[in-house]
Amino acid sequence: MIPVPTPALLKQIAANENNVYASYRRLIDAALAKQATRGDSYQRLVVQWSKLNLIPPGEAKEGTARRRAAELPQFVTDLNQLLAPAATQAQQPAEDFPPVAGSPWIIRLLKLVEEKVVRPIETGSPRAMASVRTCFGDEAAAAAAPRFREILQQLQAIHTRSDGKSKGMLYNPELPRSMGALGRGSGAAARIDLSSEFRPHLMSDVKAASTLVHEGSHTLAVEPTVDFAYRDAHAHYLLPPKLALLNAGNYEQVVIDLIGGMPGQLNAGEVQALRDGAGDSLAQVHALMCSRVVRAWVRVYDLIGLAANGRITPQELRGLPPMPSDSEPLLTAVLRELFAQLETLMSAVNTYLVLRLGAQPGGGLNRAPEQRTKDDPGAHPQPATPDDTQPLTFESTPTATTITVSFGWASQGAPDAVARNILFELTDHIWEGKQAAFSGSEVAHVVQSIQLTDRPALRMMLEDYYASLSRKTKID
Ligand SMILES: [Zn+2]
Repeated sequence: MIPVPTPALLKQIAANENNVYASYRRLIDAALAKQATRGDSYQRLVVQWSKLNLIPPGEAKEGTARRRAAELPQFVTDLNQLLAPAATQAQQPAEDFPPVAGSPWIIRLLKLVEEKVVRPIETGSPRAMASVRTCFGDEAAAAAAPRFREILQQLQAIHTRSDGKSKGMLYNPELPRSMGALGRGSGAAARIDLSSEFRPHLMSDVKAASTLVHEGSHTLAVEPTVDFAYRDAHAHYLLPPKLALLNAGNYEQVVIDLIGGMPGQLNAGEVQALRDGAGDSLAQVHALMCSRVVRAWVRVYDLIGLAANGRITPQELRGLPPMPSDSEPLLTAVLRELFAQLETLMSAVNTYLVLRLGAQPGGGLNRAPEQRTKDDPGAHPQPATPDDTQPLTFESTPTATTITVSFGWASQGAPDAVARNILFELTDHIWEGKQAAFSGSEVAHVVQSIQLTDRPALRMMLEDYYASLSRKTKID
């Protein structure tokens, strides 16, 4: 539903102020584009909408603004009526959730964390310490290790507080699909919302236990963690130790290592190779893209919460496309659209993206081996492949988007510069020619400027992190 403009908003539209009309334009364009059934009333609204946006020759700017202010309320009301059936359909029937207080499954998960993770770390088991060292580098022994007991105690306390209403652990069917659970608040006031997927028959023990430790680490009273990088594309391994210590995904990784049973994990040698940028340097580029997108996604999610509570400041909206800063419902609606697009980008980058290095000009390790004989030492020049001439080539299937990065392009800059270029091309690819609330480059810009606009406490750390990867890529 699009918020019907209040008299205060209409005044701003008539005066061309505060990006209000532009924001309505984003919301309405996106809503019309999303509408699946397109009958007569839909067509009528489309015509009406294009008339409202048209500036007839000779109409003064003030006249256009006044006309829009006069017609918009009825238009939004009509549009909402058209959207209403779809919105009602989308509402899931209320689900029954198992009780959380005393849940034998959750008790078992916490016991698993105690026996397989916390105690082995406390007793210095070589396997446990190896995992902690791989995840936290030189912060492992002194700083990271004791935090696992604190996280477990915090989880036990939160679980004990569960009352099925507002305290402790609580099912929240409104959590976005991509969140397994969500820690809120800290210390004694902390709670953990569980998504509808957080159930024994839908989630493995290792996934559930590692998710709890991830969320529990967000709620620590002292130096709670944030999300600098998720485990996608192994981005969390690239954090410098000081940041790893504050990143929830690194605690989650230790739990996965020690409980076991999740495929695709790297061993210590592979982690070191990734950190050195050895082998396929695009691994670093991909990891960096993942962590930037995650940070932006989490940040916009937080901003929605602030906006809905009327606690957002213009300072916090810096770096975002122009926003209607002082209207809560309109601002919340626009931020929700941005969040939905970041969610699309997150699954595109973190789940479905494959980066591949194109052929090296003049042959080399990345080129298919040539057929050589003693008589023919491979002197025939090979015809240029598309990879040689185009910086990026896209191939999309239902399960993956493969981007082939030309060798020349990939070797030109630091990983962050290469990641930036790929990001802007990818967002164009996703949203080009589609009516979405935000253009591809607007979404990419939010992601790319996150180290300048994130919470003040995190800005410096993010800048340090991105700069730590600014060394030129190493292509073997
Ligand atoms: Zn998190």
